[in-house]
Amino acid sequence: MRPSSPLLSVIVPCFNEQDVIRHTHQRLDAALRAITADFEIIYVDDGSRDATGELLHTIQAASPEVRVLRLSRNFGHQIAVSAGLEYARGDAIVLIDADLQDPPEVIAEMVTKWREGYHVVYGQRVDRSGESRFKLWTARAFYRLINRLSEVPIPLDTGDFRLMDRSVVDALLRMREKHRLLRAMTSWVGFRQVALPYSRAERFAGTSKYPLRKMLTLALDGIISFSAIPLKIVTSVGLAFSALSVIGIIYAVAQRLLTDNWVPGWTLIFITVLLIGGLQFIFLGVMGEYIGRIYSEAKDRPLFLVMEELGFDQAARSGQLPGHQARSGELPLASAASSSR
Ligand code: UDP
Ligand code: MG
Repeated sequence: MRPSSPLLSVIVPCFNEQDVIRHTHQRLDAALRAITADFEIIYVDDGSRDATGELLHTIQAASPEVRVLRLSRNFGHQIAVSAGLEYARGDAIVLIDADLQDPPEVIAEMVTKWREGYHVVYGQRVDRSGESRFKLWTARAFYRLINRLSEVPIPLDTGDFRLMDRSVVDALLRMREKHRLLRAMTSWVGFRQVALPYSRAERFAGTSKYPLRKMLTLALDGIISFSAIPLKIVTSVGLAFSALSVIGIIYAVAQRLLTDNWVPGWTLIFITVLLIGGLQFIFLGVMGEYIGRIYSEAKDRPLFLVMEELGFDQAARSGQLPGHQARSGELPLASAASSSR
């Protein structure tokens, strides 16, 4: 009984949002109705400790387009959104915050871009009224740092407010890593992406659920999950220390042989300390390189993602993920073999 026109899924993570949730639903519902009749709204209750859960029950009872997912405890924004992605059935999937900082009316423009053929339409904030100077400053530092260190660029001033095509969401679901920074992962995925400028409003009610601690965790996930640079720093430090210790050793030997300025046993101890110190750093770096590779293997990301397939024998491939043409199969290596035919 699936309608034949494309389905639009909207995922709303909610953590203690009792002050805004009703108003959010009204505005979101109105905005979506103006776009299409075929939509679903998935509210993910991320272990709220206030009345959010009960309010969502009421909202759901009144409207058949609403689905509610309640997590067993607070797992954090990124996991809540990932859970929603797992349940969304739409051909296009939108992520939006519950606090109306991302205006639901912008979704219509996102859908237009999607119909033009873009796979990811990400909201880019041009105006962040009502956010503290500290928040703006930390956010800017966050993106600077990530883009310095990380292997995938994250567009400046983007949050999670975005529309994604089914093929992109399927790709995200195949990335099984536990530490998830969706905006970096979406960037890694590729496909056709476009920015959509919008002004970020003030939080409608309630307070930010992102204290500094959570922001730092997010930044760390962005850096560590997308970069081996911290490991490379260890290796470089090791090499630098070893070079320094060679100088130290020459100095100690010179002191011993050329001057009277030495204590019995001092030369040997000094050289040993320097040598061992330098070697330890190098070994740490080498081990770090291996751990880095184990880490990237353990993440088990797909090797590549296919955006389009032309002229393939559909019947031969129908065993893999039926229904959508724009993806490779479950086993990346198998699909590497099959698409090189
Ligand atoms: N959120 C969540 N789990 C959390 C923290 C936040 O689901 O542990 C949701 C929250 O309800 C909101 C969105 O994530 O819909 C963004 O949070 P918030 O608006 O507090 O962050 P800010 O806009 O201040 O960065
Ligand atoms: Mg907010």
